[in-house]
Amino acid sequence: MESSLKKDIRKFSLEQLEEFFVNQGDKKFRAKQVYDWLWNKSLKNFDDMSNISKETREMLKANFTINHILVDLMQHSSDGTIKNAVKLYDNKIVESVLIPTSKRITACVSSQVGCSLDCNFCATARLKRMRNLNPDEIYDQVVAIKDEAETYFSRPLTNIVFMGMGEPLLNYNNVIEAIDKITSPEGLGIAPRRITVSTVGIPKMIKKMADDEVKFNLAISLHSAINETRSRLMPINDVNPLEDLAESLKYWYQKTKRKVTYEYVIWDGINDDEAHAKALAKFCKLIPSKVNIIQYNPIDEGEFRQASQEAVEMYIRILEGQGIIAKVRKSRGQDIDAACGQLANKNEVGELGE
Ligand code: SAH
Repeated sequence: MESSLKKDIRKFSLEQLEEFFVNQGDKKFRAKQVYDWLWNKSLKNFDDMSNISKETREMLKANFTINHILVDLMQHSSDGTIKNAVKLYDNKIVESVLIPTSKRITACVSSQVGCSLDCNFCATARLKRMRNLNPDEIYDQVVAIKDEAETYFSRPLTNIVFMGMGEPLLNYNNVIEAIDKITSPEGLGIAPRRITVSTVGIPKMIKKMADDEVKFNLAISLHSAINETRSRLMPINDVNPLEDLAESLKYWYQKTKRKVTYEYVIWDGINDDEAHAKALAKFCKLIPSKVNIIQYNPIDEGEFRQASQEAVEMYIRILEGQGIIAKVRKSRGQDIDAACGQLANKNEVGELGE
């Protein structure tokens, strides 16, 4: 296939494109014009680059392709949430979600195809991890949702959360590169403080992020501050126990002075007792933080059930009693399997793992 021999032009930096144009005997600034079309304007077609001569466009077509995502299926929830099933250049599928509230429009994007972590309560964990997403594939998900925000809500995209499929810190370089493009004026110009990266908590990578002085927000999927329970829920806790996570978070705070958010689901009979609530309050005291209590989104008939309202209130009482901010987050998009932990390419059975 001829096209597969051509290089994806968005893998090239501005400097590399400048070098390419100069080698072609063209002007250096041509690179900036093309780069602008590719990133700022998200063009998918060389022929649409209206300030580039036909000859140059033909030359570009002969040398490069523009790999881009395709929104394969768009589902609308009764609460306004939109879920995109996004087809990648190799026909793999990931999902991203647009979450509207009165004040914000948030894009929830994926960082990997599938996920390698085996969190027992998460539907994405049932898909094997197939590959990391490239920076442009992450960027394109944001652009697609930005366009949908404008089309369906006549409002701008305000926030981005890396809470879709995959573990962002296991695809660190590509996630950082995507965020660089999303925040740069040549890209979407979205402020880093409007971006949140959510992780199961990989201490080594949290320290690296602190060293890299990243400017976005950090969220940790905690779910239990007791090792035994957390390991049962999230096997990654066996190799990265809470003590190591705590140490990395202290390092994070020392370096960045930014508070973290803990995401926490309360399950019936698993972590709905006072001992768990008190352990969470203690963990929250390590560094400035707040807690988002997420409603459990059932993924099957299985062992997990949302805890009672009394248990949620008991948690809030204990946390607030210690001066910790805790908010209960209502589930969004449940009817189209777009809520936290429900992203599993249900409409694409062909992509399901074992
Ligand atoms: N791997 C990263 C990014 C995924 S974020 C991380 O774990 O943080 C997805 C969030 O939804 C995580 O906080 C996850 O713990 C939570 N989640 C997973 N399954 C869920 C479910 N069935 N109901 C509610 N939340 C769930």
